Amino acid sequence: MNTKLLDCEKIVAAIDKVLIGKVRPIALHEPAFDGNEWAYVKDCLDSGWVSSVGSYVDRFEKDLAEVTGVRRAVATVNGTAALHICCLLAGVEPGDEVLTPALTFIATTNAVSYCGAVPHFVDSDLRTLGMDPLALTDYLAEVAEVRSGACYNKKTGRRIRAAVPMHTFGHPIDIDAMVETCERYCIVMVEDAAESLGSLYKGRHTGQWGKVSALSFNGNKTVTTGGGGAILTNDEKLGALAKHLTTTAKLPHRWEFNHDQIGFNYRMPNINAALGCAQLERLSHFVDQKRKLAQRYCEEFQTLSSVSIFQEPEFARSNYWLNAMLLAPEHISSRDLLLEKLNESKIQSRPAWTLMYRLPMYSHCPRMECPVAEEISDRLINLPSSACLAEQG
Ligand SMILES: *Cc1c(COP(=O)(O)O)cnc(C)c1O
Repeated sequence: MNTKLLDCEKIVAAIDKVLIGKVRPIALHEPAFDGNEWAYVKDCLDSGWVSSVGSYVDRFEKDLAEVTGVRRAVATVNGTAALHICCLLAGVEPGDEVLTPALTFIATTNAVSYCGAVPHFVDSDLRTLGMDPLALTDYLAEVAEVRSGACYNKKTGRRIRAAVPMHTFGHPIDIDAMVETCERYCIVMVEDAAESLGSLYKGRHTGQWGKVSALSFNGNKTVTTGGGGAILTNDEKLGALAKHLTTTAKLPHRWEFNHDQIGFNYRMPNINAALGCAQLERLSHFVDQKRKLAQRYCEEFQTLSSVSIFQEPEFARSNYWLNAMLLAPEHISSRDLLLEKLNESKIQSRPAWTLMYRLPMYSHCPRMECPVAEEISDRLINLPSSACLAEQG
């Protein structure tokens, strides 16, 4: 008998047990609107202020700053737009290089490209699923040099201006180590915190360490505004500039249309912000539920040796945005079979993103060797993670 055969039935049964009583198909991540969503959206419609001006945007930005512990939050039309502006505010210029994870959603990488810069891919840390600051430090010692306060890639001659680590599936990276690496090499750090609203690193909310950081409120995120994003910063001046740039760089005036630079129409509409205000009131409840669900997966997986549930790093309190199941290395070849069985059972599940350097438009970008990102991408399957799935019965 081949003992290496993966017992898919047993794994599906374990997941079934966690999801018992839930209506199939079970989506990977669904929003829940059982707070003040209907009331605030109705109020917004009644007021007539549904679009680019209105009080819910101001309120949402204030609430966000409070929840994440930063001085200023600026709401945007989506998370990708927030990342684009973050890169610009970090000083990223055409011809620069920006360090980004090999394993991330395409938005992190595209935002770099929108600035005319070149993404430079970094390997992952198996403890966090995010950028590995220690491996990066060793790599930079080899390929980079600092000259008069600026970091250059010795091979390409381009300036390495910024790094955009991402908190994968809500799990914070080793931020202190990353900050140290960035400081040593004069690199500006931007956090892609799109997946980590509600996640803490050493007791403080993710997004506080980047010069600027980005959030997303897409429909599948922990908190949704339909579509939306935000820029976070502790620098009041940068915050004001973020607002200016995302609102067409228009100079305030009662009737005149004057703009002092090429800005962007990236503002979040008021109707989306109304939804966001109600969703944000539910954040701690969502995170509690999602953490409970993760614990239930862990319990059911305890007796299985072929798979495990990824658990938060010891320095973190994660939102467990998406639960991640890791196949034991000897079972990598059965990943797609397991994906098939799960989806057949109406349990929506999917592998991690295709590594960025395997996509045609990014295949020629500079990068370090990425054995860990490759291993994660081979071993990982995301499981249904909506907050409502933690409710019993
Ligand atoms: C969701 C997400 C974004 C932003 O996506 P939008 O759909 O534009 O809001 C950015 N980075 C990561 C890693 C994400 O998961």
